[in-house]
Amino acid sequence: MKNRFTAIILAAGQGKRMGSEVAKQFLMLQDKPVLYYSIKAFEDSDIDRIILVTSEDQVEYCRTNIVEYYGFQKVVDVICGGKERYDSVYNALIKTELADYVLIHDGARPFISKDMIKNIMEQVILDKACLIGTPVKETIKVVDCGGIIQATPNRNTLWAAQTPQAFEYTSIKKAYELFQQELNPESLGITDDAMVYEAYCKLPVKMIMGDYNNIKLTTPEDLMLAKGIVKQLLC
Ligand code: C5P
Repeated sequence: MKNRFTAIILAAGQGKRMGSEVAKQFLMLQDKPVLYYSIKAFEDSDIDRIILVTSEDQVEYCRTNIVEYYGFQKVVDVICGGKERYDSVYNALIKTELADYVLIHDGARPFISKDMIKNIMEQVILDKACLIGTPVKETIKVVDCGGIIQATPNRNTLWAAQTPQAFEYTSIKKAYELFQQELNPESLGITDDAMVYEAYCKLPVKMIMGDYNNIKLTTPEDLMLAKGIVKQLLC
């Protein structure tokens, strides 16, 4: 039987570090919002369904001005996110239907390519859990609150995690259910989905080569970079 894939695209963040009035996923790149590019890559892939997660006050806006306006056919639901990224993911996982695998993607990463999506869809069938990332180019220091270096991990072992991150649906849902039962989830410092899977499924997660262009828009410098990347990709 054919495997069924759902993409969860997260766009419920406020993007305070961008310092703009508009949330970063709605900033314009060329003449389209950042979120358009993230959804378009999945719409054009072999993914079956897309769930878009946004903040409560943007649900209607996204339905009308993004999904309907750009004619995205694979978006089956636009739902409300939660306070933290992991709450938004959980909300989407409990709304997910008819999926063997889910790909979880930051809507603020507009340069995900169709090839990367294809790679990760093939890999998750083999490994049950995988993500894309890139080897770090800089030397990374662990620094204490006083600014003093505590350690310098071997750079050859360090990768920067990106999204999409892909999982067998039932396993990641179970992992998130267990995580939701934590009394003090913030203390665990969860910043991506692989961390939740590692902690509660205790199974390996495969890292595969991503793309240095697959940046997450976080601060104004990223927006400058993104304007350069979009120009290069469109010409
Ligand atoms: O905050 P950060 O840059 O790590 O967010 C990564 C992605 O998660 C963004 O696309 C953002 O919109 C999304 N997010 C979310 N719900 C939150 C916080 C972030 O969907 N509560």
